[in-house]
Parts: sequence; structure tokens; C-alpha cells
Amino acid sequence: MSHEFVTQKISGWGRFPVETCNIYRPESRRQLATILGSGPQASLISYGLGRSYGDAPLNSQGGVIRLTRLNRFLAFDAQSGVLECEAGVSLAEILQYFLPRGFFPPVTPGTKFVTVGGAIAADVHGKNHHQDGTFGNFVLDFKLLTPTGDILTCSANDNGEVFWATLGGMGLTGVILSARIKLRPVASAWVLVDYHKAANLEDALGRMTESDVRYQYSVAWIDCLATGRHMGRAVLMRGNHAAVRDLPASIRNPLAEPPRHRWTLPFDFPSLALNSLTVRAFNSFYYGLHHNFTSKLVDLEPFFYPLDAIQHWNRMYGRRGFVQFQTALPLDRGLEGLRKVLARLAQSRRASFLAVLKRFGKSNPGLLSFPIEGYTLALDLPVASGLVPLLRELDGLVLDYGGRIYLAKDALMTPQSFAAMYPKLEQFRAIKGRLDPHGLFSSSQARRLGIV
Ligand SMILES: Cc1cc2nc3c(=O)[nH]c(=O)nc-3n(C[C@H](O)[C@H](O)[C@H](O)COP(=O)(O)OP(=O)(O)OC[C@H]3O[C@@H](n4cnc5c(N)ncnc54)[C@H](O)[C@@H]3O)c2cc1C
Repeated sequence: MSHEFVTQKISGWGRFPVETCNIYRPESRRQLATILGSGPQASLISYGLGRSYGDAPLNSQGGVIRLTRLNRFLAFDAQSGVLECEAGVSLAEILQYFLPRGFFPPVTPGTKFVTVGGAIAADVHGKNHHQDGTFGNFVLDFKLLTPTGDILTCSANDNGEVFWATLGGMGLTGVILSARIKLRPVASAWVLVDYHKAANLEDALGRMTESDVRYQYSVAWIDCLATGRHMGRAVLMRGNHAAVRDLPASIRNPLAEPPRHRWTLPFDFPSLALNSLTVRAFNSFYYGLHHNFTSKLVDLEPFFYPLDAIQHWNRMYGRRGFVQFQTALPLDRGLEGLRKVLARLAQSRRASFLAVLKRFGKSNPGLLSFPIEGYTLALDLPVASGLVPLLRELDGLVLDYGGRIYLAKDALMTPQSFAAMYPKLEQFRAIKGRLDPHGLFSSSQARRLGIV
């Protein structure tokens, strides 16, 4: 029966929090409609591949609709690169079928295991935000199953209000059924990458400001435990898609990806394995390992998705899980704000060797879309005692500098901080109220933050 569910404990990628939810797995639109129309029930939220870190796709004691079985490609125009697909299609599937045909996702996060629905609902950004903006900028339109059971086609021009509420709206406006996305034509499965070591934060941001325009993709690994004059030392990794002429003759098929092995982290690491000593040692080693290097030919997978090579890498943080702190700070106050945040993190001696710094370009009109023009810093923090007060302090610093926290990574923010960071919240609530008069769509995150 289509509207049967199983009650299970589930989590997002950070494995915190873990909540008991009723999971539906529809295989057709008809089954999906049955779930929505199956009479009085608690509430529902969509779940893609669960790559958001916290409780955005969770619904404690309520319904969660897993959408990965609605994953058909519907149409493709090789002239324009426009792909129409169901929202449960993953970027990994798009790569598998369309890279050999010379097309790449126009914007991709640091993992390819996200669905198109999840990419729209979080309005995800990639290493090209400074040039191209978010995933939403490449969505021509999508079909939304609203909480009242209507199907709306939404684009910037048609049902524009719903379009901008749904981009970044974390699944609260209904279920995205399918979308038309403009893929990027590429000549090869390779990227030409320049590596530059930056001595500290100022140096890193200065180089980004000066020369990011030359690179479609730009990201920096940052040593978040370095202090003093080395605070914010970083390795900038910036590149462009390689043309066929950039490849050696030994690469016969420019669009084929080299075969690779995937590793699996077989068990939870003991929580002591990652501490400030091991991370400090790793960071020194990693910083020392890199040298300035230009035009290195790197294949797409390690450049865009370095962590996808290790399945279940989230077990590294132990059984209690972890959260990701990701902030965006505006251009004019970013340097100062980031300094404060890094100093506080180093002082807390909390460990993250996966710390990433990027430059954001202009934001879009998405009501809850995360990026603002400036800088973004993301790092993982294991769940341990003292984490909540630290995050409260960091959120306070972020607010002082006019920044915000990313909903796709958040698990612990307060409603007060959230409302102060997202000034279009009231507009969002008004549209949500019209689309969902009975409050059918809700998530644990939405209730925690008072969005609904
Ligand atoms: C290793 C790693 C790297 C990452 N790097 C980045 C990055 O560089 N940039 C970035 O922006 N993000 C990044 N993320 C976060 C990730 O891109 C987003 O959280 C994305 O939303 C996950 O997609 P998903 O399909 O797993 O959705 P889920 O995590 O399952 O859901 C996320 C949200 O989307 C909603 N949703 C899902 N499907 C639908 C649908 N069909 N209709 C309506 N709502 C829906 C859910 O309700 C939920 O609110 C990263 C995550 C990981 C694990």
C-alpha cells in the first residue's frame, strides 16, 4: 500500500540529532498524492539523500517522505543542455549519464550524493558561487506539489513568489516533483588547478579578491587551529574546466573519468581519535605538503568531491555525531568577523581538519537562500560537552558582523538568532501560510527555529 510507512530512527549527515520518524517511500506521483491526502495526520517533510547535516529533513514523530524512488530523467535537449528530471535524481546520476555526453551540473556542492530536490530546497552553492551564484540560478522551472495537493509550475516569472520561497525554503512549501535545469557544457572530465599557499587569513582573502575572477572554481582549505600571525593560513585551490588541448595524448577519451577505488570507513571512530593534538598535527602536515603549483591537471572527482571517495566518512566523528558550523559574512566586515570566529575556535581547541573558506558572489532573491556577497567558512565540530554554549557565542559573533548560518548545516541555532539573520523571514511565512493553511509541511528544524 502506498501510504504505508515504517517507523525508524533517522538522522542527517552529521548523525545529530537522531529522531524517530514515520518514513514513506513513494514510487509514483499517485502514491505521493495518497500520502498527502491520507487524512488527518501530524506533518510531513521531504527527504532526499540526507546530506544536510542536522534536522532539516527530519520530522520527530511525524512523516518523512523519502524521494529517491522518484528519480526518472524526463527529457534532455542536447542543443541547450536543458535537462528535465524528477527531483529524486541525484547529481551522481546526472554525472553518470551526462558527463560522457559533455555536460556537468552547473553548480555542485562538495558531494555528488545530493538530489535535485535537496539542491533546490537548500539552494546549494559550489566552488563557483563567486561567478555563477547558486543552483537556483540554473533552474528554469520546477513542479511543486503544494500541501493542498495542487501542482504548480514555478519559475522566476510564473508563480515567482512561490519560486523564491521554495529556493532555499528547506522543503516547507511542499514537494518539488521535477525540475528543468540548464547543465554546463564541458569538453573534458578534468580541471586545470592552481595551488597557492596563503600565509594567513588576510593573505588568503586578498588573493581571492585579486584573482578569483580568473577562476570559475575557487576554494581554500584553512588551518583553523593556527594562531598569531599564522591565523587563517590556507591552501587556495582554484581552477577551470580543462579543454581537450590541455590533456596529454595518453587520455584518449577526454570525457571519461579514470576508474577509482572507493574506501569505506567500517566503524565509528572512538571520540578521542580526533582531538586538537591530532588535528594540529594533521594541519601542519597538510599545509607543509602543499607547494605553489600552477596548471595541475586533476580529474573532476578529487577536485569537486574529495570526501566522496570514503563512504561513511561521517563515522570519523564517533557515535555522538557532529555538526557543521557554516557562516557567511559580508564583504566589508568579513575579514574582521572571520578573525574573531577563528580566534574563538582556536581558543576552544575544538578540532576540525575539514575547514573550508570560499568567496561568495551576489545573492539571489531566494527568501531563505543562504549566500550573501562576502565570504563563507565551514567546519565540522564533534558533538561534545560545551558545544552548545560555544555555538551560541559563535552565532552571536556572526550576528555582530552582519552574517548568517546555513540552514542545511544547522542543528542547534536559536529562533532569535535565525530571525535576526534572515530578514525576509516574514515574507516567507506569509507565502507559506497561503500555500499551507493547515501547516501540513513542517520539520524538526522548522519547529525548533519557529519558522512554522
Ligand atoms: C560532504 C558534504 C559537502 C557539502 N558541500 C556543500 C556545499 O559545498 N555547498 C552547499 O550548498 N551544500 C553542501 N552540502 C550540503 C548539501 O548540499 C545540502 O544539504 C543538500 O540540500 C542535500 O541534499 P539532499 O538531497 O541530501 O537533501 P536532504 O538533506 O535529504 O534534505 C535537505 C532539505 O531539502 C528538502 N528536500 C529534499 N528533497 C526535496 C524535494 N523533492 N522537495 C522539497 N524539499 C526537498 C528537505 O526537506 C530538507 O529540508 C554538503 C553536504 C555534505 C555531506
